[in-house]
Amino acid sequence: MKKSINKISIQKRNEFTPDEYFAGIKKGNRTILSKAITLIESSNSKHQKIAEQLVELCLPFSGNSIRIGITGVPGVGKSTFIESLGSYLIDTKNKNIAVLAIDPSSKKTGGSILGDKTRMNKLSVNSNAFIRPSPSSGTLGGVAKATRETIILCEAAGFETILIETVGVGQSEIEVKSMVDFFLLLMLAGAGDELQGIKRGIMEIADGIFINKADGNNMIKAKIAIREYKNAIHLFPANNNNWIPKVSSCSAIENEGISEIWEVIESFKNLTIQNSSFYENRKQQAKFWLEHTINISIKEEFYANDNVKNKLTELESKVIEGTLSPFKAAKELLDIFKS
Ligand code: GDP
Repeated sequence: MKKSINKISIQKRNEFTPDEYFAGIKKGNRTILSKAITLIESSNSKHQKIAEQLVELCLPFSGNSIRIGITGVPGVGKSTFIESLGSYLIDTKNKNIAVLAIDPSSKKTGGSILGDKTRMNKLSVNSNAFIRPSPSSGTLGGVAKATRETIILCEAAGFETILIETVGVGQSEIEVKSMVDFFLLLMLAGAGDELQGIKRGIMEIADGIFINKADGNNMIKAKIAIREYKNAIHLFPANNNNWIPKVSSCSAIENEGISEIWEVIESFKNLTIQNSSFYENRKQQAKFWLEHTINISIKEEFYANDNVKNKLTELESKVIEGTLSPFKAAKELLDIFKS
């Protein structure tokens, strides 16, 4: 009797065991893959446990892909570009594509802006493409962790090209940079303000800078922008993988320059595989995520600790009033946490 109740509730919850999820993912079952990603994004501790086991199962089957990060200000043409590049790869290179997104603003708006299926009409109905919008809840750290684990699942499901989209407005690029092999920055040819439209730091971490919307009346402006960006990247410190970032233009809407971008990505891959920096980078990224996760988890546990919470406000006011040194207060709170 108990068993059948369990069975019914499992069916109702639409959940499977980690092994069942794994088997479905390995077969490339999209529905199971989507459900598994939902578990990864869930804050429910039971879901997290299943997700953890599932990620472990998938890990040995992951890694066999090129992971590409795509960023740029809203309106630069990221989704149009992904639609164009994705269709090109599927139609002419026989690839399959997973499109994921990290959108830190989706938490505020309550919906996902990036990776939205309605923005990629052609790809969203293509059986060789899998599109997953940004997780819409949690901190940027949580969203990034979910995306990183989603990459592992998608690779285990056989996707060999992973595109990760993010908005070029802040911290999310650094998170994306730490989980991709190649980082592409899409830019617009502006009216003389090329280098101000986007933070210099983001340009420094890009492996490719492409001026989108290089079509119609924009062609001359795009050529000028290319020259300016080429000059600008000369001043950046050299990459230790020996790659010199490429600057060029494209028109996502007219499918111009899309094959060239793919050639750039291929030559990046060839060079970095040859000199081993491709694998070294992935190792360093894994190390980064280990440290990053420990840092975040310790902090979360500290502030969630009831004893710490009880004492924090009191010590905080003493510190603000100047009757207690911040260092002594911090030590006291850490002692409370450790006890
Ligand atoms: P996103 O916010 O970066 O994802 O930008 P979208 O892909 O939604 O594009 C924003 C607008 O720019 C849309 O109206 C697109 O049709 C247009 N757009 C995108 N790529 C191009 C392009 O290569 N040339 C031109 N002329 N317009 C483009």
